[in-house]
Amino acid sequence: MKKSNVQVIGLSAFDDNYIWVLRANGYAAVVDPGDAAPVLAHLAATGDRLAAILLTHHHGDHVGGVGELIKNCINCGAAPPMVFGPAAENIEGVNHALHGGERISLESLGLELDVLAVPGHTRGHLAYFGATIGVDGALFCGDTLFGAGCGRLFEGTPAQMHTSLAKIAVLPAPTFVYCAHEYTQANLRFAIAVEPDNAATQTRCDAVAALRAKHQPTIPSSIGLELATNPFLRWDAPAVVQAAASRLGHQPQSATDVFAAIRQWRNDFR
Ligand code: ZN
Ligand code: FE
Repeated sequence: MKKSNVQVIGLSAFDDNYIWVLRANGYAAVVDPGDAAPVLAHLAATGDRLAAILLTHHHGDHVGGVGELIKNCINCGAAPPMVFGPAAENIEGVNHALHGGERISLESLGLELDVLAVPGHTRGHLAYFGATIGVDGALFCGDTLFGAGCGRLFEGTPAQMHTSLAKIAVLPAPTFVYCAHEYTQANLRFAIAVEPDNAATQTRCDAVAALRAKHQPTIPSSIGLELATNPFLRWDAPAVVQAAASRLGHQPQSATDVFAAIRQWRNDFR
């Protein structure tokens, strides 16, 4: 597949959100603009024209800026952006409703993205995978997979979230993972509680502490790094199965049971 020349940059929003901007040919697409202000500042500074908005789910910290961004395009006399989002969720401004399984085309950026249905955090949650971005592809996964963690189950079941994470786990290992929050350091404290003997987790913890001490982002990570260190993708690892068994007081009956026990423990973990 032909590589795109798309560049990905991160804008900070609120306390710990990232709004990812995909840029090429003088156009931009933004993922989960919870706040319009940093996006408008980016557009003003670069001259990029806003071609598309990609939404993963309906929470306010992901969609709060959509109305203002559309209004701004119209006020500038530009074409309003394509707004992609989950058909299963009621989000104002969405004009391209998606179910998952589609391939969408952002022609002005010369980019195609595969849409994945990843319900669990919310019932219609989507992720966007660009196989041609960067060297080995990029995944924009909102609040489904985090650095060393995963989203809370607000609307879905553990079985749904486990299935969603399993879809993500089979993407190529070098794929960059662009999630929507900077939660990695806190998540790693929990990951070490689950797997105290996982050397890769300890190494990542040290690297992340060094980055955070300098106020630098720990995102993007990669599928390979998450597979090695994220307890929510490691339902097959003996130490994780053992940790789930001691939480449950009996052997888990399935990988979903392992995932559910670890997710429940995370909710109670301080
Ligand atoms: Zn959310
Ligand atoms: Fe969020």
